[in-house]
Amino acid sequence: MSTDVDVVVVGGGPAGLSAAMRLRERGVSRVVVVEREKVAGGVPRHCVHPGFGMRDLHRLLSGPHYAETMVRRALARGVSLLSATTVTSCDEGGVNVTSARGTQRIDARAVILATGARERPRPARGVPGDRPAGVFTTGQLQQWTYLEGLPVGARALVVGAEHVSFSAILTLRHAGVATVALVTEHQRHQSVTGAGLVARTWGHAPVHSFTRVVEIIGRRRVEKVVLENLMTGRVWSETVDTVVFSGDWIPDHELARRCGIVMDPGTLGPASDALGRTSNANIYAAGNLLHPVESADVVSLWARDVADTVAAELLHRAEGTRPWVTLGIEKPVSWVWPNRIIVGHAPTRLRLHTESFTSARTLQLVSSGHVVAEQRLRRTTPNRSMNVASSFVDALGEASATIRLR
Ligand SMILES: Cc1cc2nc3c(=O)[nH]c(=O)nc-3n(C[C@H](O)[C@H](O)[C@H](O)COP(=O)(O)OP(=O)(O)OC[C@H]3O[C@@H](n4cnc5c(N)ncnc54)[C@H](O)[C@@H]3O)c2cc1C
Repeated sequence: MSTDVDVVVVGGGPAGLSAAMRLRERGVSRVVVVEREKVAGGVPRHCVHPGFGMRDLHRLLSGPHYAETMVRRALARGVSLLSATTVTSCDEGGVNVTSARGTQRIDARAVILATGARERPRPARGVPGDRPAGVFTTGQLQQWTYLEGLPVGARALVVGAEHVSFSAILTLRHAGVATVALVTEHQRHQSVTGAGLVARTWGHAPVHSFTRVVEIIGRRRVEKVVLENLMTGRVWSETVDTVVFSGDWIPDHELARRCGIVMDPGTLGPASDALGRTSNANIYAAGNLLHPVESADVVSLWARDVADTVAAELLHRAEGTRPWVTLGIEKPVSWVWPNRIIVGHAPTRLRLHTESFTSARTLQLVSSGHVVAEQRLRRTTPNRSMNVASSFVDALGEASATIRLR
C-alpha cells in the first residue's frame, strides 16, 4: 500500500466505510481505511439481530450481514483497507500507525476520524465493591457471546434502560442467561414505548426505576449486587453471577485528543460543524465519535456528507479560513451537535440530548445576553437524541451562543 494517499480514514465501522466509499464515488483516487481489528465492519459485526441498513442500503439486515456488505462494497469501489492496524497519532499531514509489521507513517491530504463510541465500563462509573469476573458492557457481552462463543453465566442484572440495554437482554437470552432486572436511575426506561412491557412479559425482566447499584459483591465471580431505590431509600440485593453495564456512551476520543483537536465539553467528541470539520484544517470527524449514539444507517448517511465536504475541499479547495461560532449549553441540555456553526452556513440538522426527562419546555438560543430564537419542545428523554429545526440557529451572529431550556 502507498504511504502517500489522498485521504486516510481512521476506523472501518459504518461511518468510516461509508465515508470512504463516497470519497471514491466523488473522484478521490487514493482512499485508505485503517482498522485496528482483524476484520473491518465496526460494532455491527457482533450485533446478531436484524435492524441494520434500512435508511442507507434500503434493506433490513443483521449486524454481521450489514458489516460484510459495507466492507464488500467499499473494496469494490477501490477503497484500500488496512486492517489489524491501529492509528496511534495524527496531524494535518497524515497519521502514524502500528501493527504486527511495525510502525509506519501514512501521509495524507486529509484525515477523517471515525473511531466510534463505547459504553462506559464499570471502573468509569465509580461503582464500589469487589472486582470479580462476570462484569461486562453490552459490547463486550456481544463479542464474548457471538464472536467467541464463550459461556457467560446463569443470572444477570442489566444496569441501564436505554435501547442497547434491551438488546443486552436478547444477547443474554441467546447465551442461556436469565435477566433478573434492568435498573435505571431515571424515572422510567429511555427506549421505545412498550420496551419495558416486552422486557417484563417476554424477558421476565422488570425495569426498576430510580435505582442505583450500591455495591458488587463476589470473590472470584459476581455473587450479588446491592441496589438502592433513590426515592424510598430501600436497599436490597439480587443474587446474580453476571452484571451488564449498558449504554452511557462516550465517544472513542483518545486519538482525537492526541491529535490536538478542540473537544466539545458536552458531547466529549471533537467540536465540529455539521460537515465534520474540526478545529484542525484537513482533519474531519464522522460517526458516533461526534456524538454518541446514533444507529448505523444514520451515521453512514451523515458520513457521506462529511465525505462530500472533504472531496469538495480537496478537489476544488473550496474555502479558506472559516469564522465559526461555538454553541454552548446549559443544564439540563447535556449536548448539542453541531456545536460549531460556520457563520452564514446554517447546518442541515441539529441534534440535542438532555440529562433528564423534560416536558413542555421552550428551547432558547441566547447570544450576548439576549434570547435570539425560541422553539417549543413537547418532551425530551435522556439518552435519546432529538431533532431541533436547523432554522433555530439562523439568527446566530458572530458572538458565541448558548442553548438552554426554560
Ligand atoms: C448492542 C448494540 C446494538 C445495536 N443495534 C443497532 C441496530 O439494531 N441498528 C442500527 O442501525 N444500529 C445499531 N447499533 C448502533 C451501531 O452499531 C452504531 O451506530 C455504529 O456501529 C456506529 O458506527 P461508527 O462507524 O461510528 O463506529 P464503530 O461501529 O464503533 O466503528 C469504529 C471503528 O473504529 C475502529 N477504531 C477505533 N479506534 C481506532 C484506531 N485508533 N485505529 C484504527 N481503528 C480504530 C474500531 O475498531 C471500530 O471498528 C447498535 C450498537 C450496539 C452496541
